[in-house]
Amino acid sequence: TPQVAGLEAHVPDVSLEDVAGIGSAKAEALEIVECLMAPARFASLGAKCPKGLLLTGPPGCGKTLLAKAIASTAAVPFISRSGADFNGRFAGTGTQLVKELFRVARSMAPAVILIDELDYIGRRRGEERGGGLETDRSAALTQLLAEMDGFNSAEGVVVIGTTNRPDILDKALTRPGRFDRKVTVPLPDLLGRHKIIRTHAQRLALEDPSSRRLTGADAGAPVDWMGWAKRTPGFSGADLAGLVNEAAMAAAREGALGVGERHVQAAYSKSLTGVP
Ligand code: ATP
Repeated sequence: TPQVAGLEAHVPDVSLEDVAGIGSAKAEALEIVECLMAPARFASLGAKCPKGLLLTGPPGCGKTLLAKAIASTAAVPFISRSGADFNGRFAGTGTQLVKELFRVARSMAPAVILIDELDYIGRRRGEERGGGLETDRSAALTQLLAEMDGFNSAEGVVVIGTTNRPDILDKALTRPGRFDRKVTVPLPDLLGRHKIIRTHAQRLALEDPSSRRLTGADAGAPVDWMGWAKRTPGFSGADLAGLVNEAAMAAAREGALGVGERHVQAAYSKSLTGVP
């Protein structure tokens, strides 16, 4: 993992299969992957790969995960910063960080830059109440726009921004040549929830009814994952990942050999009441 001026870049270990139930967002992601893998091929055809991809949608539905999966599938380095990081304590910190981010990414290109919570830095300018920090943020945003204009899409740097407030973004950010691709990562539907639950359940040890018969241990029902997908409308991917993990925790607390239906039930009740 190269460490350049405090900016850590690495190829993430997330596959596109790990991101479940996000509908057409995955197909859009694949196109970006192809651009990252062969930027020159697109350029020679006269095609301009997108420089910026805006991922929108409710919290916890896989925006960050998808950004990582894009870099990972293309096998390119990934550098990430949260929008809040650009609101430095010292004047000019945000601007400097933007410059560094692009300098490092371009030196390693093809590469992916992720700016999580882009709205922190990318809020509409001109609405500030004054004060040093606000001026700094607005300067960082101006620098970000300049950096995005300042490189050629054939260089193979893709900037991914995530936000659940696309409505408050500065219009300049979404102009052509900047974040001109907008992809929504939605709250999962029933089948999506089922897929997400199964993706996370893959790493669990499940209770095996046949071995239970042999040992004579307390009989419990195996997990009905589809049933849980049906009972969890409104749950985000993060909520579902939490549910599956809590079920495993419940099984561990009980000293069970595997996760069974009752453990998911316990985790579900806990998620509703917030009380263990
Ligand atoms: P936020 O807007 O809060 O940053 P996000 O949309 O970026 O949320 P992630 O950070 O990608 O969400 O998701 C958090 C965690 O929830 C992931 O690391 C993963 O474990 C789980 N998760 C979320 N969405 C999905 C999904 N679509 N498929 C599988 N797991 C998911």
